[in-house]
Amino acid sequence: MLSISSGAPTGGKLAFMACCNSKCVNPEHVRVAASKAEICAHYSAVGTRKGTHYEQRIAAVRKAQAARGLVPTPESVVRVIRAAGSEVTTRALARAHGIADQTASRIRRGESHRGVAQGAA
Ligand SMILES: [Zn+2]
Repeated sequence: MLSISSGAPTGGKLAFMACCNSKCVNPEHVRVAASKAEICAHYSAVGTRKGTHYEQRIAAVRKAQAARGLVPTPESVVRVIRAAGSEVTTRALARAHGIADQTASRIRRGESHRGVAQGAA
């Protein structure tokens, strides 16, 4: 499509929609990139993938937790766990704060509670 719209061959480069709409067929929105990473960099720069669905997902998780009577791990606990040195075991942290080992582990590895800001406890 880029070759058709610009009249020039793409030379083995990748073409993508700069407007980030996968259904868009406007030839003026077509851009070339040398790699998929370049395309991702573009999407990140324009904000398409900057946590688009993160807030929605977190809200859904909170709602489901509340429906099951679960209380989210307080931010203060998350900060303490993050700040703990490697000499403290994950299990000890979990016991100390009354949360599951798995939860403490995920917090430590940065796999959960990403919404809690980094920094002072
Ligand atoms: Zn477009």
